[in-house]
Parts: sequence; structure tokens; C-alpha cells
Amino acid sequence: MNRGIVPGTFDPVTSGHLDIIERASSLFDDVVVGVALSPEKNGGPLFSPEERVALIESATAHLSNVSVRAFDTLLVDFAEEVGASVIVKGLRAMTDFEREFQMAALNWRLDSKVETMFIMAIPEYMYLSSSAVKEIAAHGGAVRGLVPDVVCDALSRKLRFAR
Ligand code: ADP
Repeated sequence: MNRGIVPGTFDPVTSGHLDIIERASSLFDDVVVGVALSPEKNGGPLFSPEERVALIESATAHLSNVSVRAFDTLLVDFAEEVGASVIVKGLRAMTDFEREFQMAALNWRLDSKVETMFIMAIPEYMYLSSSAVKEIAAHGGAVRGLVPDVVCDALSRKLRFAR
């Protein structure tokens, strides 16, 4: 079984994340999306871990080989726990590179049996991030298309004035 793991905070999952998950699902027998709890990131996530997992499950319902799990351990330990040998990361514009390069090197140092693989973001989603989506939505801007529809609705409920 060739299993890949797609980790992230996914607060919330965007169309860019979904594109990476879809492409990973066609490369591996199956894919586990790992939702990092990340309580410290940017003053704390907007969505709870359970909400983030549920949103990804809805957005990936059409992908039969994708499952979603929350984790709060070292990524290499989580990969080992679920039996995945490859970490799949999306890579956006140059700004991602240094951080991702560092994480890949450190993860290799922690467990060299777990490989890190990068999939390039498509140009349309190159500048899309969860934090940008939250900022646009918080100011009442339209995020439809930037996130799966189910996330659009969840943002509207959470922020009341998101469109
Ligand atoms: P963010 O950086 O938006 O807070 P995460 O921490 O959840 O997102 O990111 C998880 C992974 O998804 C990272 O490897 C990140 O580079 C990738 N990713 C995030 N946004 C996109 C996008 N628009 N296109 C492709 N990959 C992305």
C-alpha cells in the first residue's frame, strides 16, 4: 500500500489545498489528510479541529481514497502511525520555499525513511492562503471559488457578514 500524507493546519481548507489533495489522491493508493491542531498559529485557529476535519471530509467526499485525521504529534511520528511513507506538501510562490525546505530537512533528520514530496500550486492558487481567505471574509469580501462551497457557508456562519 502506497500511502501519502497531506499535512496542514487547514484553517480553513482552501481550493488550493483541495487541488493538492486531489492531485495526491491520483498519485497514491490512498491519502491521509493530517490536520495539525496548531493552537499557537496566528493567535489560534478560527475553526476547531473537529470543524476543520469535517470541512475537509465534505470537500473531499468525491475522493474515495482520501481520509482525514487530526494530529498533535511530530509529523514524522504521525506518518509512521498511519503507515505513510511520503509527506506531500503544496508549494506556492517563493515565500513557501525557505520554510518548507527547512521543515523537509528537519523531518529527514528526525526520520530519513519518510520522504517529503512537493507539488507545485497551480498559478490560479499560487497566492491563495487560509489567512488571506479569513481576512477577505472578515471584511465582507467574496471568497466563493477561493474555498470549497461548504467552507464558504461555514465562514458565513462563523463571521456572519462573509459573503
Ligand atoms: P496556510 O499556509 O494557508 O496556513 P497550511 O498550513 O494549512 O496553510 O498549509 C498546508 C500545506 O498546504 C503547505 O504545504 C502549504 O504550502 C500548502 N498550501 C497552502 N495553500 C496552498 C495553495 N493555495 N496551493 C497549493 N498549496 C497550498
